[in-house]
Amino acid sequence: MTSVEIRQQFLDFFKSKSHSIVASAPMVVKNDPTLMFINSGMAPFKEYFLGNGKPKNNRIADTQKCLRVSGKHNDLEEVGMDTYHHTMFEMLGNWSFGDYFKKEAIEWAWELLTEVYKIDKDILYVSIFEGDKSEGLDRDTEAYNLWKKFVPEERILNGNKKDNFWEMGEQGPCGPCSEIHVDIRSAEEKAKISGDKLVNQDHPQVVEIWNLVFMQYNRKADGSLEKLPSQHVDTGMGFERLCMVLQNKQSNYDTDVFMPLIREIEAVTKSQYGKDEKRDVAIRVISDHIRAVAFSIADGQLPSNSGAGYVIRRILRRAIRYGFTFLDTKEAFIYKLVPTLVKMMGKAFPELVREENLITNVIREEEASFLRTLDQGLVLLENVISASKSKTISGSKAFELYDTFGFPIDLTALILRERGLELDEKGFEEELQKQKERSRAATKVETGDWVLLSDDADEEFVGYDTLETQIKITRYRKVECKKEGELYQLVFNLTPFYPEGGGQVGDKGYLEAQNGEVVYIIDTKKENNLIVHFAKNLPRDPEATFKAVVDSKQRFRTASNHTATHLLHQALRNILGEHVAQKGSMVHSKNLRFDFSHFSKVTDEELQKVEDFVNARIREGIALEERRNIPHQQAIDEGALALFGEKYGDTVRAIKFGKSMELCGGTHVQNTNDVWHFIITSEGAVASGIRRIEAITGDAAKQYFEERAASFKQVQKLLNNTPDPVSSIEKLQEENNELQKQIQQLLKDKAKNLKGDLKAEVKEVNGVHYLATEIDLDAAGQKDLAFELGNEVDNLFLLFGSAIDGKALLTCYISKELVAEKNLNAGQIVRELGKYIQGGGGGQPFFATAGGKNPEGITEALKAAEDYLK
Ligand code: ATP
Ligand code: MG
Repeated sequence: MTSVEIRQQFLDFFKSKSHSIVASAPMVVKNDPTLMFINSGMAPFKEYFLGNGKPKNNRIADTQKCLRVSGKHNDLEEVGMDTYHHTMFEMLGNWSFGDYFKKEAIEWAWELLTEVYKIDKDILYVSIFEGDKSEGLDRDTEAYNLWKKFVPEERILNGNKKDNFWEMGEQGPCGPCSEIHVDIRSAEEKAKISGDKLVNQDHPQVVEIWNLVFMQYNRKADGSLEKLPSQHVDTGMGFERLCMVLQNKQSNYDTDVFMPLIREIEAVTKSQYGKDEKRDVAIRVISDHIRAVAFSIADGQLPSNSGAGYVIRRILRRAIRYGFTFLDTKEAFIYKLVPTLVKMMGKAFPELVREENLITNVIREEEASFLRTLDQGLVLLENVISASKSKTISGSKAFELYDTFGFPIDLTALILRERGLELDEKGFEEELQKQKERSRAATKVETGDWVLLSDDADEEFVGYDTLETQIKITRYRKVECKKEGELYQLVFNLTPFYPEGGGQVGDKGYLEAQNGEVVYIIDTKKENNLIVHFAKNLPRDPEATFKAVVDSKQRFRTASNHTATHLLHQALRNILGEHVAQKGSMVHSKNLRFDFSHFSKVTDEELQKVEDFVNARIREGIALEERRNIPHQQAIDEGALALFGEKYGDTVRAIKFGKSMELCGGTHVQNTNDVWHFIITSEGAVASGIRRIEAITGDAAKQYFEERAASFKQVQKLLNNTPDPVSSIEKLQEENNELQKQIQQLLKDKAKNLKGDLKAEVKEVNGVHYLATEIDLDAAGQKDLAFELGNEVDNLFLLFGSAIDGKALLTCYISKELVAEKNLNAGQIVRELGKYIQGGGGGQPFFATAGGKNPEGITEALKAAEDYLK
């Protein structure tokens, strides 16, 4: 059975059990400060488990792209070393939101595995939670009894909290779970030791494939558990592991999910898989990491220097490093795997097809730049090695290479080993630990539990229609941030405050109580389904009714910039072409920033056209057509632009200004006239194939013009209030050129006169024409003069000394015949005379100069020159 069929059968099976099949959510999480990447199938549904929202169907199934490289679930170091952990993998899952519970979950899992996929019952083990005294949790006998109907008792194993109590993170929904494990060892192996002894023992052929989690609790900030409002089922089955079992392989990498990639790596790097363990690890690492990186880029997350982007960069660099060290790849090659990956997975994940070009370009660029870093690092490491007197390289040196230059520590260790040297690994670890603590302390946030004031969980957003309304606080909590200090997060029953999202900043404003107390709202953000308002303090009576007021000036400026962003997007697609796709945007009250795919610099003419296009739309005075709650497909059919990597619901909001139509949750002006004017302030590259335009509108544009006008006035004033400063300046420039020419001529004349004077001063010493004198010319003038004199006077030995800007300069010229006959060398002479002027220099035997910081010594140097002729 192919992997494509295996995936489809899973979805079909749960469809037949009344589940809605949904698409995978994007892997990069945008609305959750506790999670950077989706790390399990349940993460996109977290709010449903917490009761902060309701799904359309309370039975759902899907395959979800997951990434386990950071936070509580981090498998990065396992990947490639073993055969069944990946960075990015697909998790097949079925969910019940307050609907069915343990009975159906267990029965259906068993039916799917043994009747649909026809896995031999005798290779399956299941586990149940044995209970935990410290948490006050009992053994899950309910699950035990349900399993007993299908599975012999000796195959139902007890599991501890670590394995059989599932938690998504430090806080949040959790519950006991029941795992299903397979034992795919040979009969011979099985005879030696029974499978139940190997479950959860990290054996590569006795692995967990499916985890059925029974969500019952919420882990609170103080570590205690509270019961969730209702009970849910959350299951997750590793797709690649399932393929391994169904395709009778011993490793995930031997399935059709990975094999085409591995073959391509073999071809591109001219190496073979299965011949050498170190190379095999490298090949597995690369075949795994290319998936994680390509999918992230397709979901809109480019490698970068911070946050999620940095995680992606590190994954890619790990792959590059393994290739560099074990497959001897010294040039970029990982990008060459992209077409194979797209061919394999593009059907199930069309975003890969759509973004193939971008993925290829970004990876190639990242590879090239990291390989340069490696080259530089190798040089630096050489320096460290040659400077070191001991056989051990200190941990802090290695850390410096790692931290400042990005040179990987395992490579340092390997190179040292090859040289018979050692690395102080403990010292390195200590440095690393210190740095981790520093950055943890800098970003640490302590989050308290929500204090619920009412159980009204449906927080309505009314900010499209009004900026002021009466509200009540439904819940609040205290957060302690290292940076901002103590803050309160407030949630209302309804709110006019726009939460940061879709590139647009969150609203600011204030709450006003009847007694006159004012609490400022300094920011608004979305956390999953909640709109969270940030305040420096809590109102004296949080249960009172407040007037919530949005800062309308900031909101209006921001709206103006957001509308301009849409018009800019439209302009770029019109003028540069339809390949332009939005890759990021930032809409503030001060300005806007728009990143988009385009493969060359936007020329000045193109920028002018773009600006003109947007301003023409502004002048047209196009009224906003806002359409809320239209079906997603209908909006797309009508030509609305959607963002890649964004999660849209079934119904969407579309923003239309004439021919510009986008799916957008942001706030906009009522008429393009309100934008007033649009000015591009910069254009540049952000990554390979991604350009960035920054622009201003409205008040900022007014200010821009006002400042220009003021400085124009000043210029006019400087030019005696001329009505036409341009021609005045042109005239000034002309005059300036003329004066320059005259100065050049005067200098030439001066040199000519000087030459005549100097010629008269030449005297004869031991048959040599000799002149040593101080003159007032710059270095170039001295050189010209020396050569001109040399042309007219034979057997010449010349030394000029001059003081220029407080520094000394010596220029020595010796006729070629003298150099030959008398063995004189100007280079050597100026080097020696350099001591008088506290400096040095050099050059050729017939011409050389020296500079120094002591002009006082010039006279002595000139005097000393004559000695060379004696
Ligand atoms: P393991 O102990 O093998 O790391 P887990 O307990 O971390 O697994 P869960 O968090 O329960 O796994 O995830 C559900 C399923 O997802 C697992 O049963 C497994 O099939 C799959 N899975 C988990 N982690 C990975 C990974 N890194 N790569 C591939 N599949 C995975
Ligand atoms: Mg794990």
